Amino acid sequence: MKELRPKMQIIFQDPYESLNPRMTVLDLVSEPLEVNDLVENEAEKLEKVAEILENVRLTPPEDFMFRYPHELSGGQRQRIAVARALIIHPDFVVADEPVSMLDTSTRGEVLNLMMELKTLTRSYLFITHELAVARHFCDRIAIMYLGRIMEMASSDDIVKNPVHPYTRALLEATPVPNPRARKEKINIKGEVISPINPPRRCRFYTRCLMAKEICSRLEPELVDIGGGHVVACHLNHV
Ligand code: SF4
Repeated sequence: MKELRPKMQIIFQDPYESLNPRMTVLDLVSEPLEVNDLVENEAEKLEKVAEILENVRLTPPEDFMFRYPHELSGGQRQRIAVARALIIHPDFVVADEPVSMLDTSTRGEVLNLMMELKTLTRSYLFITHELAVARHFCDRIAIMYLGRIMEMASSDDIVKNPVHPYTRALLEATPVPNPRARKEKINIKGEVISPINPPRRCRFYTRCLMAKEICSRLEPELVDIGGGHVVACHLNHV
């Protein structure tokens, strides 16, 4: 784990809970450098912290380094979380609903900032309930239902050619800014099964409008339907 940790970082959902209120911005942002032995001295640490604070637009950095989290707005706190994750240039960053607690204008700023800074990491795994946000941010989208991937493809492909009944229902429920746009309305009804010890059948079976007999006795595998678009649904291969 000591070798893996410098390669992975996480941005948590709630910037009010995820930053230690007793630590200054300097301590919070430099912590990943210190625990992973990535700096040799204080001067190097200050230089790296100043650089990443500039990157996340908390400038001038000297104005922010010695503040505590309660002296920052929600958006500024989440920028600290982004800086803390990216300062060590990890291979992989899990961003767990990183903008869902922010107000609308700040959300766009933080999202765009994370996109601009994507060269500081190899990849983000971005977790969200909002398909519009996923489409804006991600190259590929995986749609999950009760802990399993139901469909995965490029963001464009998921939005333009959804195949799984659950993906299609999700897309129909996503608001669009055009008041004249007409959409087929698919209401998902039925019981949500427990994700603990789920039965060996399609997890979406109790809510699916397209269900067949086979869906009640066999859990569908993920199958590539072409171009890296994978779907777990019997409709595609029965
Ligand atoms: Fe619906 Fe069957 Fe496909 Fe599951 S496998 S999503 S129940 S059609």
